[in-house]
Amino acid sequence: MEVKTHTALHVLKGAVVKVLGEEAKWTASVYVSGKHGRLTVKFNRKPTKEEIAMIEEFANRKIEENVPIKVYELPREEAESRFGEDMYDLFPIPPEVRRLKIVVINGWNVNACNKDHTKTTGEIGEIKIKKVRFRKAKELLEISFDVV
Ligand SMILES: [Zn+2]
Repeated sequence: MEVKTHTALHVLKGAVVKVLGEEAKWTASVYVSGKHGRLTVKFNRKPTKEEIAMIEEFANRKIEENVPIKVYELPREEAESRFGEDMYDLFPIPPEVRRLKIVVINGWNVNACNKDHTKTTGEIGEIKIKKVRFRKAKELLEISFDVV
């Protein structure tokens, strides 16, 4: 279950950036417990209800497309020249880590991540956004969801 929920984070993140733009591209933290997940990104405002609905719809459309989730293991320099800063999160990978696993959903999301993932997006099931919280002081947007 947690592999599905974790993989859902990558799909949801892609949808967040499609709807809210590049300003939302930095992941601050992630949390997974069973079918519950939470994605926290740096952002400067509370999204509208319509935007939240669109994020959920885009994510589920990507799941329905059942596209492959590719994992490349590369030397860090090569990964950086190929994927740039977009593969990183706000929390840094220690400099002594010299090889990275890059998780790629074509045209959707690229992320350096060494966890386990499903082989395709279709295996995830369905994402239901449960709660959205914007923490103004920290400029953090938290999106809690269930995988069903
Ligand atoms: Zn991952």
